[in-house]
Amino acid sequence: MSWEQGLCCNLCGKELDIFDIQNDFTIRKDQVGYGSAYDGDGIELRICNACFDKIAFSCDVSPVTSECSP
Ligand SMILES: [Zn+2]
Repeated sequence: MSWEQGLCCNLCGKELDIFDIQNDFTIRKDQVGYGSAYDGDGIELRICNACFDKIAFSCDVSPVTSECSP
């Protein structure tokens, strides 16, 4: 399946629902830097909200730069 067809999470393959799309958890890079197997390529990593959290939670160092306080 090409990436243009359907809107599926690249990580888990789940079809993105309206919530995922509206909140846009996509990670985009016009050009990946040297050192990556994808250097020079454009990347659009479309992920669902569950996978976004999975990635963030799996980090040894928190990627959160700001937290909303209630
Ligand atoms: Zn997913």
